[in-house]
Amino acid sequence: MTQYAIETPPVVAIPVAGQDTLFPVRRIYCIGRNYAAHAIEMGHDPDREDPFFFQKNPNNLTTSDTFPYPPHTSDVHHEAEMLVALKTGGTNIPVESALDHVFGYGLALDMTRRDLQGIAKKAGRPWEIGKAFEQSAPCGPVHPVSEVGHPDQGRVELKVNGEVRQEGDLNQMIWKVPEMISYLSEYFELAPGDVILSGTPSGVGPVVKGDQMELSIDGLGTLSVVVA
Ligand code: MN
Repeated sequence: MTQYAIETPPVVAIPVAGQDTLFPVRRIYCIGRNYAAHAIEMGHDPDREDPFFFQKNPNNLTTSDTFPYPPHTSDVHHEAEMLVALKTGGTNIPVESALDHVFGYGLALDMTRRDLQGIAKKAGRPWEIGKAFEQSAPCGPVHPVSEVGHPDQGRVELKVNGEVRQEGDLNQMIWKVPEMISYLSEYFELAPGDVILSGTPSGVGPVVKGDQMELSIDGLGTLSVVVA
């Protein structure tokens, strides 16, 4: 029998809505600038250039209802996103069959140390320090496709302390879910447990300790998270 030399890290998993099962997470891919209005607010041309992705670490995901304000920043932003959970993967997946790989959909916040991300961008450095910190991806349960289908339209809304900060519609995504899956699969081997965060509408902005964030997407419920 082979034994691990150290304590084994736990499997990161998200509850499946309406089931007594968990969705185990392998990788997290996040797309940047997938809504034109958000690209513009970040100072970029919203033309349909090739998509780009960054990754968070699986164990940056959390289903906790509190988000601990992270260190070394004074400008933590909320980004309201849809989570796409894959049940199968592969390489060179055609757009036409890409949705066959989806297990379900959920809600996620791509929390961002915007000040540190800005420094990294300016210096041409990687984004992890701004994006892949502890508990940087609060998320809700995964809703199976058998329950919610494949949402390609529907209101995306994020409130802070009851006030609407972000609003958009899934139908405004520049790169649709099948296109993101197909594109990623040309560069990476996708696999069961991979998760994609599908980008954020405009209205991103800072939160402070005590703020209550409430994310909702039509058909996928509501996620409430307090900044602690
Ligand atoms: Mn994002």
